[in-house]
Parts: sequence; C-alpha cells; structure tokens
Amino acid sequence: MSHTALRHLVIVLGDQLNLDATALHDFDPSCDAVWMAEAMQESTHIPSSKQRTTVFLSAMRHFAQTLRAQGWPLHYTALDTPDAPSTLADALNRAIEQLRPQALVLTAPGDWRVLQDLRAVARAHALPLQLRDDLHFFSTVREFAEHAKGRKQLRLEYWYRALRQKTGILMVDGKPVGGQWNFDADNRASFGKQGPPPIPAPQRFAPDTITQDVMALVNSQLAHHPGHLSSFGWPVTRDDALLALQGFITQRLPLFGQYQDAMWEGEVWLYHSHLSCALNLKLLNPREVVQAAVDAYTQGLAPLPAVEGFVRQILGWREYVRGIYWTHMPEYLERNTLNAQAELPAFYWTGDTDMACLRDAIGQTLQHGYAHHIQRLMVTGLYALLLGVKPQAVHAWYLGVYVDAVEWVELPNTLGMSQFADGGLMASKPYAASGKYIQRMSNHCQGCRYDPAQSTGARACPITTLYWDFLMRHADTLAKNPRMVMQVNNLKRLTPEQREAIAAQALAHKTV
Ligand SMILES: Cc1cc2nc3c(=O)[nH]c(=O)nc-3n(C[C@H](O)[C@H](O)[C@H](O)COP(=O)(O)OP(=O)(O)OC[C@H]3O[C@@H](n4cnc5c(N)ncnc54)[C@H](O)[C@@H]3O)c2cc1C
Ligand code: SF4
Repeated sequence: MSHTALRHLVIVLGDQLNLDATALHDFDPSCDAVWMAEAMQESTHIPSSKQRTTVFLSAMRHFAQTLRAQGWPLHYTALDTPDAPSTLADALNRAIEQLRPQALVLTAPGDWRVLQDLRAVARAHALPLQLRDDLHFFSTVREFAEHAKGRKQLRLEYWYRALRQKTGILMVDGKPVGGQWNFDADNRASFGKQGPPPIPAPQRFAPDTITQDVMALVNSQLAHHPGHLSSFGWPVTRDDALLALQGFITQRLPLFGQYQDAMWEGEVWLYHSHLSCALNLKLLNPREVVQAAVDAYTQGLAPLPAVEGFVRQILGWREYVRGIYWTHMPEYLERNTLNAQAELPAFYWTGDTDMACLRDAIGQTLQHGYAHHIQRLMVTGLYALLLGVKPQAVHAWYLGVYVDAVEWVELPNTLGMSQFADGGLMASKPYAASGKYIQRMSNHCQGCRYDPAQSTGARACPITTLYWDFLMRHADTLAKNPRMVMQVNNLKRLTPEQREAIAAQALAHKTV
C-alpha cells in the first residue's frame, strides 16, 4: 500500500480495545490503516499510578499484537520508541505528515480533552475527522440528553428504569422481574462481628513478557509515580477478561448484592467483580457482562437482589455518569458549589495516617490500583468532602490512582457523587457521614487509635469531628435540601461551647 493511497487512518485509543468498535466497521485493509500511540502526557497530565499506566500500555500492546496477527495494517508508536512524541496530538501530527491519509476515523473517545486535541490536529491539517458513536454502551449521549431535557433534577433511578424498559433486561411483560425495580434494601448488609464468610481467592493473571516489559518501562520512566507493581495481576487481554467475568459470576455474584457496601480490614476484593477496568478498556462488552449475570439468575445460581444490584451498577450508574459527563463538559470540570479550597492531604499519596479506615483504603489503592465503591465514596471521598478539599485536586487523585479511571466515569463520580461539587446534579444530597457509618459497615474502628463516637478530645475520630464541622459550615445551604434536614437539625443538640471546640479541632486537621 503506497502512502498516498491511504483512505482512512483509524485512530484507536488506549480505552478502545474492541475489535467491534465502530471506527473499525468499514475497515478495508487495502486502503486503510489503524493508528495507535502510547503518549507520555497521558500518564503525566495527572500523576497516573504505576498500576494504571501498566494496565493501559500492556492492554494496548496486547491489542496491537492481536491486530497484527489478524493482518490489520497498524502504525504503533511505543513509549520507548526513540524520539517518540510526548503527546497524542504530536504523535498524530507526525503520522499524518508521514502517511497522508484522506480522512481520520475515530470512535467517540472517553475523554473530552482528548477529543478536543484530536479535533485540533484534524483542523490543522484540513482533514475530515469522522467521529462515530460508541456502540459499546447501551445508550447514546443523545438519548441521555433527550431524557434529561426539561427535568429539574436528574436521578439515576428514572434513567435506569428507562434503560430496563428499552433493553428488556430483567423485565417480563413490561414489568420488572420480581415485581420491584430495586432491591437496595436487601443490599446493605455489613459482615457483623464475625467478619466475612470465606472469600473466594481473587482471579489474578501473572504478567506475561509483554506486561513484564511494560512494568520495566514504567518502573524506569515513571519511578516517582504513585503505587507499586509487585502485585500486578489485572486482565490485559480479552481472553483473560472473559475468565475474570466467569470467575466473578460463579464465585462472587451470589453474595455481591448483600455485601456490596461492606468493608473489612485487609480484605481488598470481597464480593465485587473487579471488572471495571476490563469494561472501561472495552476488553469486555457490558451486554455480555449483564447477560452473564442475568443467566446466573435464570439458572438459579444467584439470587435476584444480587443480580439486580449488579445490573443496576452497569446498566444504570455506568450509563448515567457517562450521560452526565458528556452533556455537561467542559464546564463540569470547574464546578465547586461548596467552595472547597483545601489541599489534598499528603497522606493520600502514601497511606501514612493513623486513621485505620483511610490507611487501609489508600494502602490497597496504591498496591493494587483498586478500591471498591464504598471505600471510594465513604472513606477517601468522604474525608475529602468533609475537609473541604478542592474538587479538582480530588479529581486528579482519583483519575491518577485507579486502574479503571477514565475521565467520563471518574469525574462525575468524584466531583458530583462524592464531593457534591455539582450542587446536586448527580446526587440528591451530599454523602456526608460521621465515623459511626464506617464503624457500622466495617471493623476498621476496632483497630484504630480514634473513637468514632467522639468529636472532640485526643481520641476524637477526625471524620466525626469534620462531619459536625461540615454541617456547621454549610448549614444554611444544606437546610434547603429536604434529604439533609434531619442531619442539619441534629446540630441543635450541640451547645455553643461544643460547636466552638469542634470548629477548633477541625481547623487542626485542615492545617496539617
Ligand atoms: C469517587 C469515585 C470515583 C470513581 N471512579 C471510577 C473510575 O474512575 N472508573 C470506574 O469505572 N468507576 C469509578 N467509580 C465507580 C465504582 O466505584 C467503580 O466502578 C467500582 O468500584 C469498580 O470496582 P468493581 O469492578 O469491583 O465494581 P463492582 O462493585 O463489581 O460493580 C460492577 C460494575 O458496575 C460499574 N459501576 C459500579 N458503580 C459505578 C458507578 N458509580 N459509576 C459507574 N460505573 C459503576 C462498574 O463498571 C463496575 O465494574 C468511582 C466511584 C467513586 C465514588
Ligand atoms: S475511628 Fe474514625 S478514623 Fe478510625 S477507623 Fe473509625 S472512622 Fe476511621
């Protein structure tokens, strides 16, 4: 194929590793080529952890290997290619100059910034950029925008029900299977004093030579980035991702719902699926994941509350946050309704804190690039919310540290759900709680030098102190929210002296 004959240069990004991507639909190997590039800036615009960067690069290299083996013409720039451009835009500029395509083709990316950069490159070369819908998802952004039109408030539940109806998933004769849409009430158990039942060993995948090469590269070029690689075991190929799915369905799904919110010291994996990374890289299609869970229910292998709870995460939350991201970017990124201005505490990068719950959640995050939803929302997210950390700093941390972090899903979860920085667009109330919530849902407090029941004094739990301080600081705003009235009313129990002592103790945490 001569360079001048190139019809389409098809861009495949690091989170678009599916052979059925729309960008590849009409691919003609006689006149098209695939283009992929590893760009250092994607790991440095926020401090991407070693686990996260390794997942992306290794999965990209494995996907490139599959493309080559199947005879797809591919131009691939590796991070360690001599003189490799440091940004995606520069790498694409160079490829266009060398290959002279007639058009660029791209499946809609997951990151607003990347889309703007690639559009600018196309404009600069006066090249058409064909942007195609991402059919990986159950819904389109246009459908979400239509659903949101005219609604004063967006709520997951309505969107989720609309998608259940549209897809027929867990529906019978137009009604939800089991007679109810939502089994949340069955899905909030803690492990109790006795702790979790025996937990199946997690499905982990030993690094092959491709992954080992990436690990060596990351350890040398990004040595100062957060986290470690010694325990790396994420699926980076579709085959491994399918094994991980199968392992979850047979071993963890039956207890997924019941223990969805529970935490236990030192237990990283619990009954969660650990599939977010494979889903977000598109090694797995959400339809096959949801179908596998529904099949487990119909075959009597998993109870309905567990299956409905799992389906709601993927068909509901995952599609919902994507809709919010794309209908509100780029202004969403700047939102800060509660005017939070504190810096992110340094211990978020080390786990070096006396607070047992935060130490555990951050420690496993740095070790594995993973924490489950309640650890993200009600431990690390909660502390940052109560302390009043700038939402953009919290966002940079979440986008950097987790293996599943791509901006379309990370940003609404962080800025909207966990920091309430969008003023209630995403969540109906701030997820504010005292240390007593963590005591109820875990055993962390038993081994902690603090006491969740105390808000002042040497043993006061910092989360409890900051909880009351948060309510006092934002009482006027929060009192207008019907779902917060009860919490705000509890402030009346505090004497002026108690309020003063709490504020003083909270200040000490803010200035650490
Ligand atoms: C502050 C914060 C940041 C987050 N950042 C990310 C992120 O960068 N990437 C990401 O994929 N998820 C993110 N989440 C959502 C959720 O915490 C993770 O999807 C989940 O913990 C991944 O682990 P798992 O695969 O074991 O999930 P499971 O508990 O097994 O859930 C099953 C699947 O449901 C989906 N899901 C569950 N909750 C959500 C949600 N709130 N939004 C979107 N999808 C959801 C995921 O694909 C997940 O794999 C974030 C949540 C919070 C509170
Ligand atoms: S006492 Fe407070 S800081 Fe310690 S584990 Fe419990 S909630 Fe966390």
